[in-house]
Amino acid sequence: MTLTRSDWEQRAKALHIEGRAFVHGAYRNAASGETFECISPVDGRLLARVSSCDKVDAEAAVADARAVFESGIWSRLAPARRKAIMIRFADLIEANGEELALLETLDMGKPISDSMAVDIPAAARALRWSGEAIDKIYDEVAATAHDELGLVTREPVGVVAAIVPWNFPLLMSSWKLGPALATGNSVILKPSEKSPLTAIRIAALAIEAGIPAGVLNVLPGHGHTVGRALALHMDVDTLVFTGSTRIAKQLMVYAGESNMKRVWLEAGGKSPNIVFADAPDLKAAAEAAASAIAFNQGEVCTAGSRLLVERSIKEQFLPLVIEALKAWKPGNPLDPATSVGALVDTTQMNNVLSYIQAGHDDGARLVAGGKRVLEETGGTYVEPTIFDGVDNAMRIAKEEIFGPVLSVIAFDDVEEAIAIANDTVYGLAAAVWTSNLSKAHLTAKALRAGSVWVNQYDGGDMTAPFGGFKQSGNGRDKSLHAFDKYTELKSTWIKL
Ligand code: NAD
Repeated sequence: MTLTRSDWEQRAKALHIEGRAFVHGAYRNAASGETFECISPVDGRLLARVSSCDKVDAEAAVADARAVFESGIWSRLAPARRKAIMIRFADLIEANGEELALLETLDMGKPISDSMAVDIPAAARALRWSGEAIDKIYDEVAATAHDELGLVTREPVGVVAAIVPWNFPLLMSSWKLGPALATGNSVILKPSEKSPLTAIRIAALAIEAGIPAGVLNVLPGHGHTVGRALALHMDVDTLVFTGSTRIAKQLMVYAGESNMKRVWLEAGGKSPNIVFADAPDLKAAAEAAASAIAFNQGEVCTAGSRLLVERSIKEQFLPLVIEALKAWKPGNPLDPATSVGALVDTTQMNNVLSYIQAGHDDGARLVAGGKRVLEETGGTYVEPTIFDGVDNAMRIAKEEIFGPVLSVIAFDDVEEAIAIANDTVYGLAAAVWTSNLSKAHLTAKALRAGSVWVNQYDGGDMTAPFGGFKQSGNGRDKSLHAFDKYTELKSTWIKL
């Protein structure tokens, strides 16, 4: 059955929203009793009061997670058994997909059609993929002398803290939870204070799936309180993070100031999307360029926010992008026909609007969008926006806006395109459009980015590692490479 806007609105009214933390298999209030308001960017309504955890809650949750880890109830369970439970966890996320999609949309403003088609299924796939993999990975036997045996084995690190952002709340959590749980760790998940609801909800599904109490805990709250407490904790072994580069750097400091915990960071981006004159299909490239900046309201770490266009085709290509962007119009996220929802909150909306002003101030030419819309709804909506005539040194080209604002930059040859593309502190993703195979490969090799797409934008699945070069982070989510973050290597050398 396809649900209509009014179906979703009815369900939203009837929804029971849990706002408490989840520790050792049960929902509970923050020790302080403090809460914060969870406001929907769709229309400004109060969704729930959410537990505002702090250091005291972090202390208790880490102590419990450690005890559960040491007990071996999960960490020493046979991989095939953990696999079965992880797959059940993924199944339960799918079975509760409509509720989770609704929570995601109400909480962070993304279109319900995206929550249903992208976020929830991809989160289930991530958990299932890691679960399925765990009983198929072998350790190593070293090439020793005849009278020795050398074993190279992997062990779970112990207690993992996962701090995640608000743009794909459940999906970013699942990219961490999949390998962290499958490898046997105990996890404390700290969702963003801007979108905590799905993380809180799936904690109960984990228990229903058979993950023992204390293995997955969820502590909602602010970054500077509970996030900081986890990052500075002496008994957290590994900290995995997705979020801004600014906070990522701070977390490295916290690790150095405390127990030198392993810190794995997935941070910001300012990704170049390079369209050469010999692109195989300019219309397809234009549609992808529009989607690359408008999907998820541009609140995507890999958003194609710098569109580099070969000068000889710019006059022909830019109108195609402007035309393609007309399909991306802000609307009520609960309407299944809506392609662009609300920005996550007023702060983020004002941030995006201030970058639009900076584009004007720095002399770029506005050719599409540029305004707040639907103000009467009480929500936070901004039109997808294009600036032409952008220089790579302008603020809108240098800084991550994390909203639907596209900078169009012209170039004259391959060398110039690569130089502009790489002239950024970030290195998360890049795309190249050309019919020339050698040019595609040579450009892809020259780009300093963790993911490079050719003749498409945003390809890949769970089999491909995802993460950044330079200040976009370290380590990788997804694929078997992600398991490295959640395990320690041990060499055991035996004299025979
Ligand atoms: P953010 O850095 O502000 O917050 C991320 C998380 O860190 C939140 O849970 C927040 O509460 C917490 N935090 C904030 N201050 C903290 C502190 N002092 N100590 C501990 N935790 C703290 O980022 P955001 O605004 O939530 O998300 C947007 C950013 O995420 C963008 O920069 C985007 O590019 C990035 N992102 C990256 C990827 C990736 O895979 N590379 C994916 C999605 C989003």
